[in-house]
Order: sequence, then C-alpha cells, then structure tokens
Amino acid sequence: MRRTGGPAVQLPGLFRRLLERIRGREQRLVRAAEHMPLLLLSYPRGRGDVAAEVEAAWARTFRSLGSAVREPYEKLFRALPPVVVVLLRPRNLCGCLGHHHPRGTESKITRRLAADLGSAIGEIDLAYESIREWQPQPLSSMAAGQLGARLNELHFQAALLAVLLHELEHLGRPEERERHVRSRSDRFYAAVMEELVSGETGGSYGMARPSPLP
Ligand SMILES: [Zn+2]
Ligand SMILES: [Zn+2]
Repeated sequence: MRRTGGPAVQLPGLFRRLLERIRGREQRLVRAAEHMPLLLLSYPRGRGDVAAEVEAAWARTFRSLGSAVREPYEKLFRALPPVVVVLLRPRNLCGCLGHHHPRGTESKITRRLAADLGSAIGEIDLAYESIREWQPQPLSSMAAGQLGARLNELHFQAALLAVLLHELEHLGRPEERERHVRSRSDRFYAAVMEELVSGETGGSYGMARPSPLP
C-alpha cells in the first residue's frame, strides 16, 4: 500500500533478507477465529510489543467491530490461504506502508514452510513505524482533546488493521483494482476509528465532519 504521492522503489529482496538475518527475527502465530487465516508474524528481535499490537488488532479489535464494518472482509477470508506470513519491519525504503507478495515472490522461509505443510501460504509485509505515523484523516479536535495519547493507540490499531486487510485483499483478489482496494480500506479505517473513538468517549465524538444537529 503506497502512501499517496510516495515513490515506489523496490529494495532488492536479497539485501533485505541479509539485513534481517543480521538483525535477527522472532516469530509468533496468531489465531483469531476459525474462518480467519492464521497469521505467522515475523518481527525484529525485541519488538514483541509490535507483534502484540498486530495480534490485538487481528484477534480482538477486528472481531469487536460491528458486522457491517467487518462484512466486506469477512467475505474475503474465504479467498485467502489458511496461513499468511506477515513480515513486520519498521519501514520500507520505498516508503510504502505494506506490500503483498504475489505467488512466487515470497521469501525463502515462506516457500520452505509451504513445502513442509503441503499447502499454499500467503505473504505480506507491514511497515509498522510508517503505519503509526500515517495520518489518513483528521480527527475532530474535541475527540483529540478528550482522548489525548490514547487516540494514538486507537489510530495504530485501526491503521494496522486497515493496511493488513488492504494487503490481504490484494492476495485474495489479485484482479481487483488498486483504487477499489484502497477506497475500501480507507472507508474501513474511518469506520474503525469512528467505532473505537465513540467506544472510548461514550459515543460523543467521531471523525472530523459536520456535527449532527442536537
Ligand atoms: Zn494496494
Ligand atoms: Zn513499496
């Protein structure tokens, strides 16, 4: 998923993998619900906090959302492989928030795992620091004032989910056009923030938009 207006340069895969081997990585398997793919998170050693955020987004936040918000992606799950490897990195050199790795371009680890399990395994990457900084939409200043730092935590949950589902949609529906995938994930982000913020504020504040009449 490209940041609007950002450049698109691919870091050679070999170089990337070499860096990862030097830094060292840890893995965590995240199970949410029967019909949702298992996520195998691979993250830099010592960044269990980031893995825990992705786990909370996938296994808790997503399932806490209203069914209308979840619905477009609930359908997508049927088109996905049963396991998806999620490579977590602070940033991508190209500036993207994430990528899906089409069939045949997965990392060696994913290909070896697929061969061992005898089933297809998907692969995506997420750039968690870029996702944390991503500001797709302004929040109402009242919500910002009331929630303070908690707002950043809610944003991170909503943004992680939006980018994760965006890349999963590319994996499951390779023929779908970017602008459709993007508009779906942008609407999803706004809807998730709306739910999370109103959950925290007792329904008083949402995203920046004209307030309803009293
Ligand atoms: Zn995309
Ligand atoms: Zn990129």
